[in-house]
Amino acid sequence: MKGIQVKFSISWLKYLKQFRGEKILSQALRMFRLHSIPFSTLLGNMFNVMELHQAKFTFPIVASVASKNLGLTREILRRGHEVAVHGFKHVNYAYITERQQDDDVGKALDTFKALGIQVYGFRAPYNVYTEDTPKLVEKYGFLWDIGIGYNPKYRSGTSPFRVQIDDHESSFVCIPLNRLSDDFMIDIQGFSSRQMETKLKHVIKGASEKGGVFMFDLHPIRMGQPKYVNVLNSVVEYGTALNGWFPTVTEAVNYWSKHGKWKHDAPFCCLLTGDIDNFSFFDYIQRLF
Ligand SMILES: [Zn+2]
Repeated sequence: MKGIQVKFSISWLKYLKQFRGEKILSQALRMFRLHSIPFSTLLGNMFNVMELHQAKFTFPIVASVASKNLGLTREILRRGHEVAVHGFKHVNYAYITERQQDDDVGKALDTFKALGIQVYGFRAPYNVYTEDTPKLVEKYGFLWDIGIGYNPKYRSGTSPFRVQIDDHESSFVCIPLNRLSDDFMIDIQGFSSRQMETKLKHVIKGASEKGGVFMFDLHPIRMGQPKYVNVLNSVVEYGTALNGWFPTVTEAVNYWSKHGKWKHDAPFCCLLTGDIDNFSFFDYIQRLF
């Protein structure tokens, strides 16, 4: 069965090379390599680290992908972590109309509802928001959004905030999203795992001194790999030793809304989030068509 799947994947790669060019091929090869470890193992590695430090993770998941991988999606909740909406399909909202965005968000929510998965928050695919997107986040009643905060004007903030929508403040809460995602550190900066660890610890140290909320986007497809799960372990260990609070986003938003501070009077709150765009290489290939 596995042999057939690999053969099938390689023939798709040849197809991609012929019709979509080298760039997509090299990205596909990278995804093929990353997915050689089953996603259940990657998530399991992360859950073990998080449990060791009693920390929580929030996973925005593409709804169409969650519906094909229900067991793993439920496992995330069973281990005490959170699932959020990352669109129905992984499409760039800048390239579709408001009506299509509305359909995508609505369909994603319907899908999670049908699966019996409770969701409270949203992050747009690619962190791309148009003027219409915040209106839809509000229309669909989300409690929080964790992608708007990636905009350079919010990125370095340290407090939850609301955005202006027409004549009022958004009903949902936004969180600043730190620039140090695994993509930024590895693909753009070319950091080694050691450099990632140093950089992330530096931000955590600053957080413990300044206070406030800090959020990172650390994709499980990469952070669950043995090399990077060790980075996650030392960073969370470091943060908890500094008395930081590492809850799910919903826990943090609810607590902050009610008390205006962090649980146990923690000096800072650190939100670990990681988008799941695909659970397997097959999910990834399907997304290209
Ligand atoms: Zn994504």
